[in-house]
Amino acid sequence: MRDTGYDVIVVGAGNAAFCAALAAEERGARVVVLERAPEDENGGNSRFTAGAIRFAYDGIEDLKKVMPDLSDEEIANTDFGTYSEDQFFDDMFRVTQFRCDPDLVELLVRRSLETMVWMREKGVRFVPIYGRQAFKVDGKFKFWGGLTVESWGGGPGLVDGLTGSARKRGIEVRYSTRATELLTEDGRVVGVRVKHPGGFEDLYAKGVILACGGFEANPEMRTRYLGPGWEMAKVRGTRFNTGDGLRMALNVGAASYGNWSGCHAVGWERNAPEFGDLAVGDQFQKHSYPFGIMVNAHGERFVDEGADFRNYTYAKYGREVLAQPGQFAWQVFDQQVTHLLRDEYRIRQITKVSANTVEELASKLDGVDPHGFVRTVEAYNAAVQADVPFDPNVKDGRGTSGLAVPKSNWANTLSEPPFEAYAITCGITFTFGGLRITTDGAVVDEDLAPIPGLYAAGELVGGLFYFNYPGGTGLMSGSVFGRIAGASAALAAVQQEAA
Ligand SMILES: Cc1cc2nc3c(=O)[nH]c(=O)nc-3n(C[C@H](O)[C@H](O)[C@H](O)COP(=O)(O)OP(=O)(O)OC[C@H]3O[C@@H](n4cnc5c(N)ncnc54)[C@H](O)[C@@H]3O)c2cc1C
Repeated sequence: MRDTGYDVIVVGAGNAAFCAALAAEERGARVVVLERAPEDENGGNSRFTAGAIRFAYDGIEDLKKVMPDLSDEEIANTDFGTYSEDQFFDDMFRVTQFRCDPDLVELLVRRSLETMVWMREKGVRFVPIYGRQAFKVDGKFKFWGGLTVESWGGGPGLVDGLTGSARKRGIEVRYSTRATELLTEDGRVVGVRVKHPGGFEDLYAKGVILACGGFEANPEMRTRYLGPGWEMAKVRGTRFNTGDGLRMALNVGAASYGNWSGCHAVGWERNAPEFGDLAVGDQFQKHSYPFGIMVNAHGERFVDEGADFRNYTYAKYGREVLAQPGQFAWQVFDQQVTHLLRDEYRIRQITKVSANTVEELASKLDGVDPHGFVRTVEAYNAAVQADVPFDPNVKDGRGTSGLAVPKSNWANTLSEPPFEAYAITCGITFTFGGLRITTDGAVVDEDLAPIPGLYAAGELVGGLFYFNYPGGTGLMSGSVFGRIAGASAALAAVQQEAA
């Protein structure tokens, strides 16, 4: 085999890729990271995130392992609670309707804390998510929903931390270098063909790890796999995740796995650009709908906005918005709850109207039948169970009664003006279908035998998410399986060397 000086080639330069690269390097492998985007657009979807990352912890002692710089004051003023492995398992099984692969989930959950500690050792800093996942109760911050920690500096901080750590350890990172094809010899993956500004080049190594994202930025694949209408969705993140890794792997006989017609998609600013904008990041999302109502072009509600905490509904409600006439909706709030709206409601790039009466608001909701809207608000207000106390920190059971589309929690009448409304459409985050891997991170073929030399991690691994997704699990999955794939590829390289 030709030697290009590499043991392991990692395709992609997001969170999963760097975790793979760092894990391979710490086992002595010579690693190169290939990234299709130019350096100023680096970091994939990982860079667009808020860096929120879900892991199991038993209390403050576990959190201190991940955030050793937590101050005494922060600890005294915060109820961090716990998020046990059992809760993480329950969340994964419940939101995926028990479809998720139990072997992969076992690794995801049980390795989550140790992987966080490992990332910290590699130079990634973490902080509590005070802004979005905690409310103040009796002067003390109380966390809810099992999502407690984010990377310092959000997604950009995470990517910069990982990139810096990789460079410090001698890992080469090549930008503007797109993998186009896997090179094989006798059924083994021996390298990748790449396209870069200088032309095409073949790079060889003992193992290749695909960590180059799903197909969310590819309208043709979205329509083919997710279904008609998905070409209309806006892309929340990078324009570079066009399914290359999936295509390359399927072309060498890899097995497809998981929910290929499913994806993570959310309510997203209606007038947002076609792809994510790094200057705005994830602020186009509009996630405070549990405290208000959402209406479509008929002025009608179409989902239970308060079915669960935002973490457990937001990823599937984008699909519901896409299914509405004109692919849009308006979120409506009154002054009883506007102080609870997340910071993303206060950015400049927003489609917002406000009014002092419901009728006036109805006339301002672009594309909405005003009579339908007024009827909806009247019926909704009459159905609110106002005798149940409102509490944003728990599923308060303050619902509606008698509506065809119920609201199960946090139902308040729309009665205190000025009313505010925000226009949204569907923003796709990432796709759920992917490649099938072993518990060692090796990609298997259609006979379920590992393809020698081929590994995968991150968004393009199938089998973890179906229908829905618990917030903060995408990064954790990339980290856990990236670390596993990196270790396996490095070990296989050593064994090959010895053979
Ligand atoms: C706006 C937004 C907010 C989000 N917020 C969160 C959050 O807070 N917490 C969370 O857990 N998840 C969040 N997610 C989901 C999360 O981004 C993904 O689950 C995760 O980042 C995927 O990591 P990855 O490394 O697999 O892919 P990516 O980070 O997307 O990296 C893939 C990389 O591969 C590159 N690439 C593609 N094709 C090729 C090729 N042919 N050759 C070379 N390189 C290639 C891409 O350019 C990209 O850099 C969010 C996503 C978005 C879009």
